[in-house]
Amino acid sequence: MAAYTPMMMQYLQIKADYQDAFLFFRLGDFYEMFFEDAIKASQELEITLTSRDGGGTERIPMCGVPYHSAQGYIEQLIQKGYKVAICEQTEDPKAAKGVVRREVVQLITPGTVMEGRGLNDKENNFIASVSAFKGGTYGFACSDLSTGESRVTLLAGNFDDVLNELSLSGSKEVVLDSSTPDELQKKLTERSVLAISYEDNTEVNEAYTNLLEGLDEEAAKLSAARLFNYLHRTQKRNLDHLQPVTFYEIQQFMKIDFFSKRNLELTETIRSTAKKGSLLWLLDETKTAMGGRMLKQWINRPLINVQGIRQRQEVVELFISHFFERHEIREKLKEVYDLERLAGRVAFGNVNARDLVQLKKSLMQVPVLKETLNSIEAEAAARLAEKLDPCEEVTDLLEQALVESPPISVKEGNIIRDGYDGQLDQYRDASRNGKTWIASLERQEREKTGIKSLKIGYNRVFGYYIEVTKANLHLLQEGQYERKQTLSNAERFITPELKEKEDLILQAEEKIVELEYEIFVNIRETVKEFIPRLQALSKAVSELDVLTSFAELSEQRHYVKPAFTEERKILLKDGRHPVVEKVMSAQEYVPNDCYMDSERELLLITGPNMSGKSTYMRQIALTAIMAQIGCFVPASEAVLPVFDQVFTRIGAADDLISGQSTFMVEMLEANNAIANATESSLILFDEIGRGTSTYDGMALAQAIIEYIHDKIGAKTLFSTHYHELTALDQELGKLKNIHVSAIEQNGKVVFLHKIKEGAADKSYGIHVAQLAELPAELIGRAAEILEALENKDKTDTASGMPSSQMASLGGRRTGGQAGSFKEGLAGPVSMPTPVKEVEPLLQQTVEKSEEEAQLSFFEEVPSVKSSSASKKEKRVLDKLNELDILDMTPLQAMNMLYELQRKLRN
Ligand code: ADP
Repeated sequence: MAAYTPMMMQYLQIKADYQDAFLFFRLGDFYEMFFEDAIKASQELEITLTSRDGGGTERIPMCGVPYHSAQGYIEQLIQKGYKVAICEQTEDPKAAKGVVRREVVQLITPGTVMEGRGLNDKENNFIASVSAFKGGTYGFACSDLSTGESRVTLLAGNFDDVLNELSLSGSKEVVLDSSTPDELQKKLTERSVLAISYEDNTEVNEAYTNLLEGLDEEAAKLSAARLFNYLHRTQKRNLDHLQPVTFYEIQQFMKIDFFSKRNLELTETIRSTAKKGSLLWLLDETKTAMGGRMLKQWINRPLINVQGIRQRQEVVELFISHFFERHEIREKLKEVYDLERLAGRVAFGNVNARDLVQLKKSLMQVPVLKETLNSIEAEAAARLAEKLDPCEEVTDLLEQALVESPPISVKEGNIIRDGYDGQLDQYRDASRNGKTWIASLERQEREKTGIKSLKIGYNRVFGYYIEVTKANLHLLQEGQYERKQTLSNAERFITPELKEKEDLILQAEEKIVELEYEIFVNIRETVKEFIPRLQALSKAVSELDVLTSFAELSEQRHYVKPAFTEERKILLKDGRHPVVEKVMSAQEYVPNDCYMDSERELLLITGPNMSGKSTYMRQIALTAIMAQIGCFVPASEAVLPVFDQVFTRIGAADDLISGQSTFMVEMLEANNAIANATESSLILFDEIGRGTSTYDGMALAQAIIEYIHDKIGAKTLFSTHYHELTALDQELGKLKNIHVSAIEQNGKVVFLHKIKEGAADKSYGIHVAQLAELPAELIGRAAEILEALENKDKTDTASGMPSSQMASLGGRRTGGQAGSFKEGLAGPVSMPTPVKEVEPLLQQTVEKSEEEAQLSFFEEVPSVKSSSASKKEKRVLDKLNELDILDMTPLQAMNMLYELQRKLRN
């Protein structure tokens, strides 16, 4: 190593402290990377890899990016989850003896980005820290450097809670003690792309003692201190915008574990992990970025305090009834920029004059918002208005000081208004007078020489000059003009008096630029003092934004205000799945009721695949969550308890990342619910037991139902395709059967999506397969097998053998007799029987006739009365009818004819 040049030695020394980051090493106008960094960066950034002699025996791999376009490259690396250490020259190269001194001035990491693509407007960018304490307690702290908010909680013993908080915060980076066991580190990174960083110092530093003042628990202080020490160490700059850390307990909010949150698609869809299609997407009518972020936080943490929920509801109701005021407020909100992030950048020192003009424009909306709120005569509106602090001092200052559209650069002048600063005005006068003087000099010179085309110009290299075309040179008086530059058809000159004026003008301009920057920095410092007020304002504006958007949405989509009861009762009339309804358009969605009380704790849902079982279950969970964030809900009437937790096991979303089988995940999720649910929880189990053999699955399903029924008492919706389970209502007093109705028509199943009391009559599996257009031959064969199985089943029963697997599993308490199950229910695959007519859940429900409903869903299904043609024939006829023969080539027509015939014969 000794053979390296002094500069390479310096590089290696610095790099040793930043092993896990790309070191951007400033060399003149470039940031260079060397060795491994260079090889990796050239691949990740698709830039050329070169090499240089560094004194060693081999050439050193090298690549670099120009410093003025570095931002884009840094962002690319950060987005890929890397860290970048920015190493600058920290002394003037001219003054340096030997190698210029260099230091890392900032470590940019996924959790500490302050600007650019790494930051999404409507998303927080949290960085978290996890600390372990004696006795098994974990401290979890997180902080958003861009907005300055931080919070901390202590979690007793359960690492899953830590994982849960981590994923709720959406952190992209976590700071750990370096002694954290590998196994825990691995768990942390299993669910998402997460950069890991270490900070062992948990001493509370003077610089932020005041931020931790509100924390009572020592462990909470240390957890937050670990995070702040890391930020302090890596950011190396002012973090004055950090707000006091708030302490929270997870029990203060409705708990939705990671799996349930994903299954219910609260903030992103399972399939594409995109916002579109999620509950957040549906609810997000916010007008400001801050409001968008607050909404997401609310969805992640619904309230369990009824008082708090009612306060939000009260405001939503108010804005529904005050349409014009709401409209006015939402229009004004559009003009409000991201105050929270602007405040962060003021503190960080990277705000420019344009940002400050945006800040001013945003603040100017506040008095108007206040006025509109005050015009509503209601206490809730007055309370909101009260919270809006217009920070007039800031508005006035910015209005007086800054021009209307300043440039992005803060170091080139043109920022400060005339009249704001006496000294600046004097310099400006000097510069302007100088320019007027030059204009008159041009006139005089033309007159004196008689050269009409003579002009005075300016360029950066030569300064001011008098330009005369070659043809007119003879008109100039010898000796007065000093030649400065020769062009192809003109000469440029200078005179002593022009030179003198030039000095004055340039000096004034230089001073202007310097002074403007100085004034700007002063203004920024003044604004900095208002950061806490700006942050409080930003919270108030966000709240106003979210609540008006709830009102907007609730009105548009005909949601109702849910009433809360302590009776543990659910009553939903005409409930809808808010997202499915939105994507489907309103007339098509079939509303459904839900009624549960102390006599109906568990609902066992049967019905064909694709009939709407899981949609129904989800709609109930989403309704509960919407209610507890203070929004109105998709129903015509709603009474709900306050749920403490929601658990779901829905769908077969394989946990590919952790490499566990579907069935294992299913059991883990079931266990999570069973271990943690209380009487006040909501559990949704969709087809539990499906991932294993029928006997196993059914046995587990029954045992789970019994356990919840007897030991937990949580409100539970359990969908199943095991029809045998429907007999459980005979034994379990609080379990009731419901089903999603379907009817059979011309041998095909038609889904009505209507929830009815009682068990489904059959499973329609083969019909669904037929809808999926499996080969006709295969469908025929399946029907044959089914019939044979069912006949066998009947014979078995007649000869005293158990009628189904269920019986062999043992009916509950009665010890394995088939008789404990509902009479007439056959085996797992039962014979088609006529559709049973069952009462709707709530008498008042307006119900479409089945025929009518069916037609609106499957238009290709002929009306029962309409024709004698089979459905197949009808489809062919329809197709024929649709054809535009004149627009077809003979070959296309032949092909179509062949196709139609094939359909008929099939
Ligand atoms: P299951 O769980 O019974 O297999 P799903 O709940 O997945 O069925 O529903 C299947 C499809 O039926 C959904 O994608 C949705 O488009 C439609 N659907 C479900 N419920 C309704 C409803 N109430 N009204 C209209 N369409 C519905």
